[in-house]
Amino acid sequence: MSNIRLDVVSAERVVYSDDVDLVVAPGTDGELGILPYHAPLMTTLEAGELRIKKGGEEFYLAISGGFLEVRPDRVIILADAAERVEEIDIARAEAARRRAEEQLQRQLSKAEAASVEAALRRSLTRLRVVQKRRKRRPPTAPP
Ligand code: ATP
Repeated sequence: MSNIRLDVVSAERVVYSDDVDLVVAPGTDGELGILPYHAPLMTTLEAGELRIKKGGEEFYLAISGGFLEVRPDRVIILADAAERVEEIDIARAEAARRRAEEQLQRQLSKAEAASVEAALRRSLTRLRVVQKRRKRRPPTAPP
């Protein structure tokens, strides 16, 4: 089966780089599915889940918005921040969510409110991706 190169890059690191069969990204105008031979495209991304299919496997990332470019031979995602589901620190995301919710109770300027709302969206995206996609360990049998 043919595939397409996917590079997901954040300001800090290459988060994912491989040949894949399908990419489903959170486009600003809705979910965007990209298969090999997709027409060239440049678009913005919202905070949301990035779903990747490769062979029989699926991989999930939380991304915090950014840009997506489809070139003839590859898909490039420049993400504000991105984490694979297994990398997400749940306690940190919960703390970030609580902090943002507390801040939103206060009197904020428009710019402050926009920044706190963006932080809230990032934390909720991380928590949603973990909740939906992280495999739970089976309960350990009693001794
Ligand atoms: P925090 O307030 O906890 O730093 P944040 O949403 O402000 O959260 P970002 O600015 O989006 O953090 O990201 C900074 C860096 O930390 C990025 O590399 C991002 O991938 C990573 N990061 C942020 N939150 C988490 C998390 N819950 N688990 C794993 N990595 C995270």
